[in-house]
Amino acid sequence: MSSEIVEMHLKLLFDLDNLLNDIDEPKYKKIGFKVEQEEKQSLIRTRNALLKKLPRDMADVYERLKERYQRAIAPVDKGFCFGCFQRLPTELLTQTKGMITCPNCGRILYWRKK
Ligand SMILES: [Zn+2]
Repeated sequence: MSSEIVEMHLKLLFDLDNLLNDIDEPKYKKIGFKVEQEEKQSLIRTRNALLKKLPRDMADVYERLKERYQRAIAPVDKGFCFGCFQRLPTELLTQTKGMITCPNCGRILYWRKK
């Protein structure tokens, strides 16, 4: 699996998790944002299928981080991790292969496309 595809999967997963999170937010329910149980189940199924497509170690890290932070992934911008707003070491910024995580908060990092 190429790193671009992995990144795409991660972002999709992240969006789905945010959506699922919003569905359960009381304030969303209050403004009449209602989602049928069936739709929610289908979102969860899509999410699980996505998770299965990711490399096993990454899926594990993602799940663990989600438990801890809600936001398991963070964009990198101008050399900063946007999860914890710490400057990242230069050697990390030039790394192009594999899963890159923030040494400070542990979130999976991805690069914003210019
Ligand atoms: Zn961080």
